Amino acid sequence: MTAALLFTAFRPRTFRYLHALLSTMPVAVALVRKRDGYLVYGNKPCRDLLGVRRLHGRYLMPDTLSAVMVHDYLRPFADQAFFDDSGVELPVANGQQLNLRISGRVITYLWSPCWLLYITPDLSSTDSHQQFEKEQRTFQQVLNSLSELVCFQNNSGELIGTNKAFDRFWRGRLEEGIACATEGNARTKAANHSWTVTPEGSSCLLEINRNLLLGDNGEVIGSLSISHDVTEWHEMQDVLRSEIEKREITEQELAQRNNLLDTILHASRDPIGLYNEHGIYVGCNEAFARTLGHTTETLLGKAVRDVLEPERFAEVWKIDLKVMEEGISVTTDDCVTLTDGSMVWFEVLKSPYRDPTDGTLGVLMMARDVTERRLAEQQLADAIMELQELSFVDSLTKVANRRSFDEQLRKLWYSHIREQQPLTLILCDIDYFKAFNDNYGHQQGDFALREVAKVLLSVIKRETDEVARYGGEEFAFLLPNTNLNGGKVVAEAIHKALAEKGLTHMYSEVSNSLTVSLGVATIIPQPNQDYGELVEMADIALYQAKGAGRNCTMTMTDSQCDDGRA
Ligand code: GH3
Ligand code: MG
Ligand code: MG
Repeated sequence: MTAALLFTAFRPRTFRYLHALLSTMPVAVALVRKRDGYLVYGNKPCRDLLGVRRLHGRYLMPDTLSAVMVHDYLRPFADQAFFDDSGVELPVANGQQLNLRISGRVITYLWSPCWLLYITPDLSSTDSHQQFEKEQRTFQQVLNSLSELVCFQNNSGELIGTNKAFDRFWRGRLEEGIACATEGNARTKAANHSWTVTPEGSSCLLEINRNLLLGDNGEVIGSLSISHDVTEWHEMQDVLRSEIEKREITEQELAQRNNLLDTILHASRDPIGLYNEHGIYVGCNEAFARTLGHTTETLLGKAVRDVLEPERFAEVWKIDLKVMEEGISVTTDDCVTLTDGSMVWFEVLKSPYRDPTDGTLGVLMMARDVTERRLAEQQLADAIMELQELSFVDSLTKVANRRSFDEQLRKLWYSHIREQQPLTLILCDIDYFKAFNDNYGHQQGDFALREVAKVLLSVIKRETDEVARYGGEEFAFLLPNTNLNGGKVVAEAIHKALAEKGLTHMYSEVSNSLTVSLGVATIIPQPNQDYGELVEMADIALYQAKGAGRNCTMTMTDSQCDDGRA
């Protein structure tokens, strides 16, 4: 009051001088334009008391107070030069009242009549004022403890309150902060995103949520903007998005691969099947299912053990385990009896298979019908066998042929050199066979040759002994490990058996039946000898037998055998 009165006589020469003076005043002083209640100036105590903010040389009144309200309040004193100690209730946030005592004096400031107001809190309402201040402090503390950037703006977009996080973030670039906070649409409440930089200089994405602030009567009095750093969230979103994209690509590739696999499966005439590590059929073509007496619909999902015979399953599963455990491919031959009873041979290739989606193992089976090949192989084997027989067996008499005899003699000769055992050869020639042929005919001659061969075969008792057709009507006996005496025994048996057989030969000069002359030779072969010697000796003995009248046996041996060793 005293101070206000002091101003009555005071005529400041410059604004600056007045400002300097008022700013040092310890009490709240405000300068309000008389014409419209506009706040021209408020010193610090005034700003603190009324919640006035100074921005770029302007004074912003709190939302609860407006120039119009001030003008209305001062209207009753319009015709006065001053008024003293007038009470007023000023609305503040949350419906609270601030009780003030005001004294005023008209002065001219910037060529306009202004009220110089001296404002003090109403002492009678000190308690409620303190309470109000306490609540405000608490509210501010709460705001300051938030990591979000909070700011309030009035309807003109002027900043009327911030928290510490906001101040710290936007220090030195408040205009950008206000612009950023204003980006969100308060009416739609939709969050807005804006890229900026942190005070540390790193790039950062702010998510801004704006809400309308409503007055007691529901009127819009400003907006609240809350922003927070969502850079990490955004980066995570990016990673997630790229993961989803990758997954979609993989799924597409997988679908394509499945498609391809399906096409191959169904285009193949060879049976192809796939079962997992539990032996459940998970894929096959019709050819495969048909082989097992099924269709793809009835086979898929079934267990191998339920489809195959128990014994067969045990056999198959053993191979499958090997394929899966050792990771190797195995080829087997498989004979399958189809539902129509026909037998089909398959060459089956089993390979390990790993499911790309879950990494589980399985077996991929590819079978090829090789029945025709098998048959051809069998026929070939038969033909070879026949050929072999032909090449070693005499076609007329079915005893070993001359080739077989030579081969056998050569082998025996060398084994007898090693073992120093006697080897006996009997050459056997039918007596007067020319006369037989001439008189009974060639066919009858062939028949007689076959009959003689049978008789000669019947004489052989040891498995290692062999009889061969040596040529025309000549036969040869090879008797391994047999000395001359042994040879003589066999020779006697031959004469006897033929006599018993009694194959009529009325044109023989020694008998009425077929007879033979025999030359027996025995040698313990020596390394320096040739098996031709044995044949030669038997030949000489045979010649001697012919000379001696036929139907008899002559023998020949070498010096070693003469020593009594053979
Ligand atoms: P020898 O007592 O001196 O042996 O009198 P041989 O008549 O048997 O004498 P030779 O060895 O000269 O005659 C062999 C005859 O055997 C000649 C041929 O008519 C007959 N012959 C040889 N090979 C065959 C054959 O494969 N089939 C038939 N039917 N006769 C054969
Ligand atoms: Mg002869
Ligand atoms: Mg003869």
